[in-house]
Amino acid sequence: MGKFEKYRIDLKGMKENHAHYDFLLDNAFFAAIDSPELQKGKVTVQVDVKKTAQAFELSFNSQGTVVVLCDRCLDEMDQEISSTDKIFVKFGAEYADEGDNLIIVPEDEGDINVAWIMYEYIALAIPMKHVHAPGKCNKTMSGKLNKYLRTSADDMDEMEPVDDSAEDESNIVSDEENDKPIDPRWSELQKLL
Ligand SMILES: [Zn+2]
Repeated sequence: MGKFEKYRIDLKGMKENHAHYDFLLDNAFFAAIDSPELQKGKVTVQVDVKKTAQAFELSFNSQGTVVVLCDRCLDEMDQEISSTDKIFVKFGAEYADEGDNLIIVPEDEGDINVAWIMYEYIALAIPMKHVHAPGKCNKTMSGKLNKYLRTSADDMDEMEPVDDSAEDESNIVSDEENDKPIDPRWSELQKLL
C-alpha cells in the first residue's frame, strides 16, 4: 500500500479540532486503484476533518471528470462528477466498517487511509446512463449503427408492396423462409390425403 501512503489522514496527531486536506486524483491514482470500471480521471477531493467528543467527522467534497465508456458509441467520454459525502471515524481495537458511515480504526495506529473511500464515492457519483453530448459520438461507430438501423427499416418498407404485387414469386420465397403452413407443398400434400 506504499503508493497510497499520501492518502493517510492522521487523526490521533490532530493538534486542533479541524484539519483540511486537498487531494488531486489523476490517471496515476485511478490506474493504481486498479478497478476495471474506472481507470482514468481528474478529480479534486477536499476533505474536512472535524474532531468532536464522540468521533472524527470526515466530509468529502469531490469535483472533476472521470473517463467512462459512452452507452451509445462505446467510445471513451468525459463524465463530470460532483459529490459530497460524510463518514464518522472512531478508535477501537481493530479496523471495522460498522455501516451507517461509521468506521472503526485501530487506536494504536490512529489514522485512516482514505484512498479507497474516495474512489468509491467517485464511482458512486457516476450516473447510470452516460452518453456523449449530441453530435460528439464516435462517427464511425454511430454511422455504422445508423446505417444498420436505416437499412433494416428500408427492408421492412420494401417487403410488403413486393409481396402484394408479385404474388407468385415472392410468396414462394417468403413462405419458404417463414415455413408457413400455406406453403404450396402443403396444398399438394392435402390433395393426396
Ligand atoms: Zn458516444
